[in-house]
Order: sequence, then structure tokens, then C-alpha cells
Amino acid sequence: MTQVADFRSDTVTRPTPAMRRAMAEAVVGDDVLGDDPTVRELEREVAALLGKEAALFVPSGSQGNQIAAHIHARPGEEIAVGDNAHTYDWEMAGLAAISGLQARALPAEKGRIDLDAARATLREAGGHRPACRLLTTENTHNFHGGAVVPLDHLQALREVALERGAKVHLDGARLWNAAAASGVDLSAYGATADSVMTCLSKGLGAPIGSVLSGDTAFIERAHDVRKMLGGGMRQVGVLAAPALLAVREQRERLVEDHVRATRLGDGFLEAADVELTYGPPETNIVFVRAVGRDAAALVTTLEQAGVLTFATGPETLRFVTHYDVDDICVERALEAFHAALR
Ligand SMILES: *Cc1c(COP(=O)(O)O)cnc(C)c1O
Repeated sequence: MTQVADFRSDTVTRPTPAMRRAMAEAVVGDDVLGDDPTVRELEREVAALLGKEAALFVPSGSQGNQIAAHIHARPGEEIAVGDNAHTYDWEMAGLAAISGLQARALPAEKGRIDLDAARATLREAGGHRPACRLLTTENTHNFHGGAVVPLDHLQALREVALERGAKVHLDGARLWNAAAASGVDLSAYGATADSVMTCLSKGLGAPIGSVLSGDTAFIERAHDVRKMLGGGMRQVGVLAAPALLAVREQRERLVEDHVRATRLGDGFLEAADVELTYGPPETNIVFVRAVGRDAAALVTTLEQAGVLTFATGPETLRFVTHYDVDDICVERALEAFHAALR
């Protein structure tokens, strides 16, 4: 069999040869002491792209989100999130375990948190109710099919938060994809939140790491919280160097992943009784539902044909495109999918 076509996630991307060279040649120092020039450069560059004063390199996106929640809210308070949000559903209840927060999931159609629900939820403490002074948005929205949350919706949520004296954190793990798909400037998205987390190890293809951005005071605190969580890393310029290449050279390429996701979606729909759960993909994620079929069994059959994917529901599979899957992989996935349904 030829090479495996791995659609499980865009996290499976391996560093390019140029990234490997950059790792070998990186100028490094002790980053916990603030001495790693390559990390400093990465942080400055990402902060500038997002229109923020400062940034902090963190080992994972989850840690970035958890640090932000820890700083923006106090134990015993609430955090408002959209339903199916990564921070809430996919980070081991870190909000509760690390920061003593109660998460309140608000309805969010395709990642768009309902404005009235946000108005009703964000509040000061009183009358038996805890304060809820933090709203977390997510763009693109992973478990709503990689949907791009429109800029004006994020701006409207920001307005509600400002009216209520609440902070906003943007989980922008795939904000790069949102910007590539919508043409909206990263800094415009950045302006809708007090802090932004972006991942380097997904579609951009860096091996490890995420960046948390915000104002200078926030990032100073983030430094301490990262240390508390065991995320202080020493000669981590070896990771910042490939991440810099990722940020500089891989952003525009993401539209190719989006085209392939669209092709996958169109191809899936050629079968009977198949639905795209969130409609045609807007970015690099496709949720496909094979009505009346067992998704786990389909995953196994596809795997035997060299196509890797995940079941995300009893009848639903998630496919994610990225630079390690080309057009041939896409056609192979479609062929295997149709064969599995027959
Ligand atoms: C992947 C992802 C994260 C962070 O994931 P890590 O694996 O911890 O880097 C955060 N939010 C969203 C929406 C994601 O898809």
C-alpha cells in the first residue's frame, strides 16, 4: 500500500525540511530567564500580527486557554463559553480543576455565541448568583465544522462584554484559517478580545507550540501562570525557529487545505444518505454523517484502505485537511468512503 492518508487532524503535520534546518540552527538561550532571542522574535511577531502589545510562547493551545481563564477570572466565578467549545469540552475540565471556574455553555450556531444569551449571562455577583465576567469565543470553531465566526458577530459579542464589564478571550487555535478564508486581517480579530490564543502546530505545520497574546500586564501575569503550570521551557528557541517559519510562510497556503476540504465535502455528497453536518466546509474541517451507518465501523474500514479519520458521533466522521494530505489523498479518501458505504 502507498502512504497513509491521515485526515484525523491538522496536528499530524510534520515539520518541513526547512523547519528541521531552522531547528538545528536556532539561536537559543534560557527562555525562563527571558534569554532566548528566537522565542522573543516569535512572540513579537505574533503579537504584532494580532495587534497586541505582547505575547507568550506556550507548549500547547490548551495551556494558553487555561492560562487566560486563570488570569481573567477568580475561583467561584463563571466563564461563559459556546457549546462544544474546546476550552470547555476538550481540555480535561481544566477550567474547574485549575481555576475553580464554573463553565456555562451558551447556544452557539456555527460558533456564533447567542448575543441575548451572552447579555443574560455576563453579570456581577449577587442574589445567590456568581459573577460571570469572562466570555470565551472560538474562531474557527472546531466542533462546529471549522466554521468562521464573522467579524461583526465577534464585535457584537465584544460590545456586550464591554457593557457588562466582562473580559473576552479568543480561542484562535485556527484563527489563521479564519483569516485565510475570510480575508479579515488578524489584528481585526485580535481587537475583539482582551487575549488571543493561536496554535502553531496545526495547519501552519510547526511541530509544537502555541502563542498567547494580550496587553503587557496580562502577559506578565501569563508568564507566572505558565511557570505554575509547569510550562516554562528553557532552550525553546529550537521550537520557536520552526514556528517562525510557519507563521511567515505557511499562512497563505491554508487556502489550499480549504479547497481540498470543499472537494471532500462535494465528493461525500455524491453518495446517498450522506449529510454534511455543518454544511459545505468553510475552512479545513468536514463533518460527514452517513445516515444509518456505524461511524466506528466506517473508521475501521477506511483505515484498512489507508485512510485515517475519527468518529465524532454514532454516524458522524470528521475529516481535517492539512499540508500532508494532497489531491491524491483526497481522491483516495473519497474512493474508500464510497467503497465502505457499498
Ligand atoms: C487544538 C485546539 C486547541 C488546543 O489544542 P492543544 O492540543 O492543546 O494544542 C484549542 N482550541 C481549539 C479550538 C483547538 O482546535
